Amino acid sequence: MFVKSFGAAKNVTGSCHLLTDEKDGSTVMVDFGLFQEREFEKKNYTLDFDPKNINYIVLTHAHIDHCGRIPFLIKNGFKGRIICTKPTYQLSKVLLLDTGKIMSENYKYELKKYLRRNEEKPRLLYDESDVLDSFDYFDPVLEYGKPYELKNGFTVKAGNAGHILGSSFVKISKNGKSAIFSGDLGNKEKPIVKNFDYPEESDIIYTETTYGDRNHKSFKESKDEFLTAITETLKNNGNVLIPSYATERAQDILYILREFYEQGLLPQCKVFLDSPLALNVTNIFVQNFSYFKDDEIPLFKKGDPFDFPYLNIVKDMEESKNINKINERAVIIAGSGMLHGGRILHHLKHNIWKTENALIFVGYQAKGTLGRKIVEGEEKVNILGEHYKVNAKIYTINGFSSHADQNELIEWINAGSGVNKGASKANNDVGHANPKYGKTCLVHGDEDVMNVYKGILEKKGFNVYIPSYGEEVGF
Ligand SMILES: [Zn+2]
Repeated sequence: MFVKSFGAAKNVTGSCHLLTDEKDGSTVMVDFGLFQEREFEKKNYTLDFDPKNINYIVLTHAHIDHCGRIPFLIKNGFKGRIICTKPTYQLSKVLLLDTGKIMSENYKYELKKYLRRNEEKPRLLYDESDVLDSFDYFDPVLEYGKPYELKNGFTVKAGNAGHILGSSFVKISKNGKSAIFSGDLGNKEKPIVKNFDYPEESDIIYTETTYGDRNHKSFKESKDEFLTAITETLKNNGNVLIPSYATERAQDILYILREFYEQGLLPQCKVFLDSPLALNVTNIFVQNFSYFKDDEIPLFKKGDPFDFPYLNIVKDMEESKNINKINERAVIIAGSGMLHGGRILHHLKHNIWKTENALIFVGYQAKGTLGRKIVEGEEKVNILGEHYKVNAKIYTINGFSSHADQNELIEWINAGSGVNKGASKANNDVGHANPKYGKTCLVHGDEDVMNVYKGILEKKGFNVYIPSYGEEVGF
């Protein structure tokens, strides 16, 4: 058997690993995500294999860098089935539709530019109707810990990856051989989604390495910083803007604000959730409380743990615009998380130039985005074609990540080697493991980060390899 990686190989996004049994040509593809790094965007249109030869896609979770090219694959002849958990199916539908909508809007805009100026002709990866067509291909049959047999002889067993709602790592086996794919692993300190399970032994393991070179600030400390930023701004009668991703982060923020409210820590204010996408995602969370940490389940049984008396759900653009008439004590949660579009930009225009206001970043800001420019201290920024002074106070909260940090990545993979199982925090000096994987392949990370992590695992006796795009790794 062998695996070929067609994405997230020496880079972070575009996850795709194709497992093939060369004896009968049967195949299982793990994830088919969108490349989101600008330098790899053109790769999204490339298919270096025949989609008709793919029997199954096993989808680890609903993030677009893991599922975002599935409609494109179907458009190009994929006839197989897509296997995942129920929440992954529900979330993928919402997130893919949103992506399809943005893609067709961008395409129309670029097409006008092309017709006017005769620049490079734009291409459309897929649109909303392609996304709707793709829903028929999903089988939300995976349950954590229960093996599921595919018709081509492979068996898939999912474990909870603890990353976002419904996220899995998967062990795929056939004829006594097995491969594990981590998907994305979660941050154990976060509320809501249960912590990750540990992997079993296998012939080969593919693990993500996003934070293989560093540890996060503690969640508790980050929560305290977040509360201080809000209370200080409200004390000065300012407004608070929180750009947020719609999936997981927006729910974490609502959950934390509700907690602050119940503890009497949140001063009187009006909190606005101004993101239709985040609202749709939150509704899916409420339908899946069995995936949540045990101590939080009673809360879910009582009703909606993301709701509290200060919260207002913004329904349409009219209501969204009306928020801008509020000059004080509004806390506005809106997308996009990195300020490269969405309703947050209108709120930014009205608030960023006033000294009493605050902008709180709760997620990663990629290079080149408006969010990154502000975090890096630019004093004047262009928002929707106009220049604004950055007078609002800028806060960056680092510990809310949905990804496992270095210690957690080591804990996860070590536990699968029979070492350190169940420990609450990994210890780098835990001793030499006797890894129960023939090979450990590092993916889903920047190359320099992967090299740091490779060094750590090699010291523990792991046989580590970093595959390149399209490279075949046999086992
Ligand atoms: Zn992810």
